[in-house]
Amino acid sequence: MKHKTIIEPFKIKSVEPIYVTTEQQRKEYLKAAKNNPFLLKSDQVIIDFLTDSGTSAMSAEQWAGIMRGDESYAGSKSWERMENAVKHLTGMEFILPTHQGRAAERIIYGHLGGSGKTFISNTHFDTTRANIEFSGAEALDIAISESNDPSLIHPFKGNIDIGRLENLINEKGAENIGAVILTVTNNSGGGQPVSMKNTREVSTICKKNNILLLLDCCRVAENAYFIKHREEGFEDKTYEEIAQEMFALTDGAAMSSKKDALVNMGGFLALRNKELAEACTMLLIITEGFATYGGLSGRDMEALAIGLKEVFDPSYLEYRIKSTAYLGEHLHKMGVPVMMPIGGHAVYIDAKKLYSHIPVNQYPGQALACELYKMAGIRTVEIGSVMFGKYDENGKLIPAPMELVRLAIPRRVYTQSHIEYVIETFDEILKTKDQIKGYKITKEPKFLRHFTAHFEEI
Ligand SMILES: *Cc1c(COP(=O)(O)O)cnc(C)c1O
Repeated sequence: MKHKTIIEPFKIKSVEPIYVTTEQQRKEYLKAAKNNPFLLKSDQVIIDFLTDSGTSAMSAEQWAGIMRGDESYAGSKSWERMENAVKHLTGMEFILPTHQGRAAERIIYGHLGGSGKTFISNTHFDTTRANIEFSGAEALDIAISESNDPSLIHPFKGNIDIGRLENLINEKGAENIGAVILTVTNNSGGGQPVSMKNTREVSTICKKNNILLLLDCCRVAENAYFIKHREEGFEDKTYEEIAQEMFALTDGAAMSSKKDALVNMGGFLALRNKELAEACTMLLIITEGFATYGGLSGRDMEALAIGLKEVFDPSYLEYRIKSTAYLGEHLHKMGVPVMMPIGGHAVYIDAKKLYSHIPVNQYPGQALACELYKMAGIRTVEIGSVMFGKYDENGKLIPAPMELVRLAIPRRVYTQSHIEYVIETFDEILKTKDQIKGYKITKEPKFLRHFTAHFEEI
């Protein structure tokens, strides 16, 4: 018999309490948090969908590894195990441990960047862009045009636009391209996958022009799942083999291991070129730590080595991708406007469509994030004009292209009943949608305002 029910392929050994609150309490908490879910305390939250970064539940094996962690300053056994795991996966010779993804980015893009340089990606993740721009270089996003339409179905919406890539190389001059970066899956584009065919084409173009191709591989296992099930010729390959094939097409990779390595902290840089690796190692030692630990303790490296293997377990990946799709497709069937197809790590709600009566300068995404919290204690994040909006010289809002709310699903943390609770909440969201009011910003910092801004209901 083939079951339809997706079961969590794990049993629960250790539990963390969820504090159940009343709607009245949550209204008070949100008011004290100035209507910004980032300012809530975690024990005021029932279901925390703020991020999938660093929020994974570790396995019994990983916790056992934590006890085994070797905290020697140099040449730790735990480093040896992490280095071997990363080498095995990436096939690259030079591995640099870092405390998280952006540390790896600062090192490599700090070294390759500088004014006059251009970096090209399907979509630069915000810390990637920040590190590139901070070096004085420019960061250009050229995902295929299908990626801009939230409701359009396409199997590999994370793909790079090959025609635009070739034009940009001609226009800028190959020698001025710092690197081409493929983000898998494409986080900012809705967790959409990149195909092997696209990676191969990008790799061929980069080789021909002598341009470095790097993989932002935070969710490379989730991406491998989509390739196996959507791209011809990969049906019989393992998820790990698919990921290895993808790495083989590139010159290097940066990973925030807080995603697909199933740890709470960690990252790495993997490189093939010796000179580049030596330059990066020098920067690593200056700011992160010695080359055999980066910013990590031995126990972190031990857990990372184990997580990087566990993430390719077929029953885990099947559960991971199908349970995310389960939430997204239920909402879609109920008539909630969601970004389609459902990506690997999150479900994105199109708040502009849901609250079509709220103008973008009254932040419909923020309104939805507040409603989800008040109604059910669900914490989400607005990805729209609060996060990406800018002002023109008259102080008028230049809105973001989309007003989305992201429900990011932590790995191995919530069960199906938690997901059912979220789905049920959307019944009420749909019923009350016409009465919901917009928000105005009452206080905001100059940069990254979404983290700390204050809001008031209009
Ligand atoms: C999270 C993330 C990063 C940055 O990693 P941190 O560990 O948060 O510093 C870079 N790229 C992508 C695609 C990410 O999702």
